[in-house]
Amino acid sequence: ATATIAPFSTDLDDVFISVKTTRHYHHSRLPAIINTWFQFAKDQTWFFTDRDDPYFHNQTNGHMINTKCSSSHSRRALCCKMSVEFDRFLESSRKWFCHFDDDNYVNVPRLLKLLDNYNPREDWYLGRPSIPTPLEIVRQGSESSKRSKVRFWFATGGAGFCISRALALKMTPVAGGGKFITVGDRIRLPDDVTMGYIIEHMLKKQLTVIDQFHSHLEILKFLNKDTFHDQVSFSYSKGPRDDWNIVKIDGFSIRDDPKRFKSLHCHLFPQASNCPHR
Ligand code: UDP
Ligand code: MN
Repeated sequence: ATATIAPFSTDLDDVFISVKTTRHYHHSRLPAIINTWFQFAKDQTWFFTDRDDPYFHNQTNGHMINTKCSSSHSRRALCCKMSVEFDRFLESSRKWFCHFDDDNYVNVPRLLKLLDNYNPREDWYLGRPSIPTPLEIVRQGSESSKRSKVRFWFATGGAGFCISRALALKMTPVAGGGKFITVGDRIRLPDDVTMGYIIEHMLKKQLTVIDQFHSHLEILKFLNKDTFHDQVSFSYSKGPRDDWNIVKIDGFSIRDDPKRFKSLHCHLFPQASNCPHR
């Protein structure tokens, strides 16, 4: 038999998956993750929060990390969490850092298949922008004559993104050991934008656009069911009244599964526990 030698073979243990959360969302958001995709990546996924929570500590086999960052939705608090996520990845010996929000469903096998196309010893920033053109900011120099426009892309944090270890190591002098917060303070922009600024502007490495990452900034019902297997991440959001932005999929009732994570999970993995086997 002829063996095809795959150039890279990404193992689950090569990936550090971080999920940003906050004390206010533990009960409303974490169970939907823990009961679905977390089951496929229990040892690889960590939740970054802002309070010790013995109940979820237990539910996640000790994978809750108290960042000691503020629990406000302030730009600074979010950059603080991203900084801790990044530093924890650096301390791990893993090849890939993948960040998600606590309203993301991650299609774990598909994520591995995606990463398999890229060499973690090269510089890779994989994700999906949510704006049609690069962000343009005006950098204030010390003198007004030093003002200059800076344009860069950034991957939307709410869709998830991945960074290779090689790139993370190059980022370390400017973003490691808490310095990510300093950069965020300087440009006064959110954590995902700060990430794009560091990688695209400071390091001159380009974002590779991956259309299979999805945030609730998209209209999720437009995603075609026949392509769900190919998508890396999904999300949901609750609009005014009962008008949710959710993936259109049959399965559990809206009442039992308002976020559609359980239905998605059973669609993708019919043999998973908690799925109605036939
Ligand atoms: N978040 C946080 N602290 C807060 C509010 C939100 O860490 O005070 C996290 C939240 O857990 C989620 C992300 O930030 O992972 C985005 O929050 P949310 O979905 O509420 O807002 P969005 O920016 O998506 O509208
Ligand atoms: Mn969100």
